[in-house]
Amino acid sequence: MVSARRLLGKLVYGSRYDKVPWGQRVYVRPGERLIREAQWRRLLRRSPIVEPEDYQARMPLGEIEEFIDCTLCGEPRMQPLYEPVGEDGKWRYHVVRCPSCGFLYRNPNIRPERLGDLYAKGYSKFLTGKYAANRQRRYQLTMDAFSPVFDDGAGRRLLDFGCGAGLFLELAEQRGFDAVGVDLSPDSVAQANERLTRGRAYLGAPEDVPEIAAGGFDVITLWSVLAHLPRPVDDFRRFRELLAPGGVLMILTVNANSLLLKAYESAWSGFTKNHLMFYSADTLPVLLRRTGFAGAGYAPFYGDTIEARTTNLPESLRARLRRTVKATDGGNMLRAMAFADEEAITRWAGSREVRRLRAEPAAAKPAPLDLTGT
Ligand SMILES: [Zn+2]
Repeated sequence: MVSARRLLGKLVYGSRYDKVPWGQRVYVRPGERLIREAQWRRLLRRSPIVEPEDYQARMPLGEIEEFIDCTLCGEPRMQPLYEPVGEDGKWRYHVVRCPSCGFLYRNPNIRPERLGDLYAKGYSKFLTGKYAANRQRRYQLTMDAFSPVFDDGAGRRLLDFGCGAGLFLELAEQRGFDAVGVDLSPDSVAQANERLTRGRAYLGAPEDVPEIAAGGFDVITLWSVLAHLPRPVDDFRRFRELLAPGGVLMILTVNANSLLLKAYESAWSGFTKNHLMFYSADTLPVLLRRTGFAGAGYAPFYGDTIEARTTNLPESLRARLRRTVKATDGGNMLRAMAFADEEAITRWAGSREVRRLRAEPAAAKPAPLDLTGT
């Protein structure tokens, strides 16, 4: 199938784009965007919506797995779309789409209490060397994309949730933040504390650490963590409580609206072994609205080499890539910021477009009487 597509690409585009890396070709070949979006719509048309009973009857359930309804909106029906398989064939899972809110998630999912089984020891060993340098470069680019949030950390508290070996905390320290992190891997936390000078990493959940549970954070960061959370509603309610007035929650995760997902389907790079849920700029607000955030803003992702200006692409193709990403909201990563309240929007949105979120009726306070007479 893939080779047939490659052959078709050869026929249509010749060898003009051979030097463009695979991850960028989809964005720069003329007309490809429309083809991939048509491919996506056809997949949705052809994939039936199934009842949970029917789905569960034919789907094997692993020991550490459980069937779930849509985590964001509670819809029990689903549209099975993808079946990613590991390169070595050692893992495989099923990805479904919620027919009500469009959320993409793994079903069966992983039981939260068995999450540790996914992260057997040794998970932190590749967080060094070249990998570490690339990671830190991506963090720098991400911080720049969200300017002014990370420009000056002096006097501001930052929590890095899922801090790993402290690669980001180190950068946050350098920018002046009073930075702390939490992670579930003892190896990683030990490495992080070796790396840090003023900041500190803790093992466990935020509520386990009194200094963190006290809250009052100006910034909370979730770098490549969101897709791993099996109970995001609970987690985001906690994040909202931990934020100070004017605080922001910063998110970097794989983009479920990526044009590369529409092109590569089950072979998409975002379907990694341990990812559980896949968000887009359309579905993330459903989660944020439910958990009491006031607004959402985004920074389109053009890819590390484009943003770091290390790419060999000629300027004309770079411009086309940027246009395609913007027009389709289809970069491979989703970079989002969630504003705790109106004050946060005023302070940090800058020129960014903000999608305002109204709380659910059950959570909303009654509106104050309008006595101004206007
Ligand atoms: Zn849903």
